[in-house]
Amino acid sequence: MRNPKETKTELLFWDDQYLTKFEAIILEKRDDSLLLDRTAFYPAGGGQFSDYGHIILKDKKTKKLTIKSVEKTDNEIVHYIKGKIDPEFKTGLKVSGEINWKRRYNLMLAHTSQHVLSAFIVNLVNVKTTKAMIDENEVVIYLERKISESELSTVLINTNSFLLSGKNVQSTFYEKSKIPEKIKAILRGSLGEIDTPKVRIISIDDLDQSLCGGTHCKNTSEIGIIIINDFKGDSINFSFGKKALERFASINLDVIKTSKLLSAKPAEIGKRMNKVIEEFTELKENNNQLTKILLKQKLEEVKSNPVTIGSIKIIKDDFQYAEKKFVLQELGPLSKNTIAVVIVKGPILVIVSEEKMLPADELIKIFCKKTNNKGGGTPKIAQAAIKNTKNVFAMIEQIIEEKIIEI
Ligand SMILES: [Zn+2]
Repeated sequence: MRNPKETKTELLFWDDQYLTKFEAIILEKRDDSLLLDRTAFYPAGGGQFSDYGHIILKDKKTKKLTIKSVEKTDNEIVHYIKGKIDPEFKTGLKVSGEINWKRRYNLMLAHTSQHVLSAFIVNLVNVKTTKAMIDENEVVIYLERKISESELSTVLINTNSFLLSGKNVQSTFYEKSKIPEKIKAILRGSLGEIDTPKVRIISIDDLDQSLCGGTHCKNTSEIGIIIINDFKGDSINFSFGKKALERFASINLDVIKTSKLLSAKPAEIGKRMNKVIEEFTELKENNNQLTKILLKQKLEEVKSNPVTIGSIKIIKDDFQYAEKKFVLQELGPLSKNTIAVVIVKGPILVIVSEEKMLPADELIKIFCKKTNNKGGGTPKIAQAAIKNTKNVFAMIEQIIEEKIIEI
């Protein structure tokens, strides 16, 4: 079949989607690419990624080029080559092409499963697919609006049951003006956007009629099932075929393991998890309250027994079990000439200073220089993430003593 836009290259994948090897003549050799008179390499397009493979010189089978991508422009199919093109590949010579079949076949399964899923979303929920990213391991489709989890569940059951029932997939070319009304009525894709006299329609049983130039498998039973990897309401990421079966097996066993851990039946894991989260939130809240009580008592104790260096009062203690915000909240405003030195969860060293001659950020800066830690802040409050809590208080006291002497 010739490309409807009359490129110089005959597109063999439209006649035989299962063609893995072909012969061609080099029409043009460029710095990084080749144009051929015919090709079975699918160029990226319609959401389906490009084929990979090799181009081999007919008379010298050891001369082989690796294709890194195939791209379609308005009137050309360009085969981009990895690395430098061997000078023996010349315009007019005969070559053979070999498609990376494992990748291509997966792309065909991916693409066909996308047609079926998108068709069921239209049929059951009346939502169109606006874009698809079809790769050899997974597919992402984007929808024109969000659908619910229960809608997706219905779509998924129908899609998998349809795929497993082994429906035929057909590729047919029609003159634009001669498309049967029956097909036109449910056709996915816009005829108005195609400026060629002939169009290619992919029919999957009586479920789906779609304008498409991609490659597809012959029967849906080749796909097996699809499994959802991620769902964001208006986008669905899924795996298909063998990958889907493997994921299904692993998820199935994980569910059983989790059900044992939670002492709940597999179907009740969701309900049980909600309860566990509720209990956990309550425990966390209780823990926060107990921490606050403990903090209050300890802080009252250290506040009433400060260490004094000259006229400076130093409040210090280790509160690694508590979040910084709780410690600062309970610490409250300090009286004049007072410095608080505390270690909080992290561990993080926090210094609060009400002594203008000894700003917190400067004390932290000296501490970080001595200990190779990183930190900063303002004259009132500064902090440093610390690796080691040993001797921290003694070091800060020493820094303050030395600063007082300087002053
Ligand atoms: Zn397609």
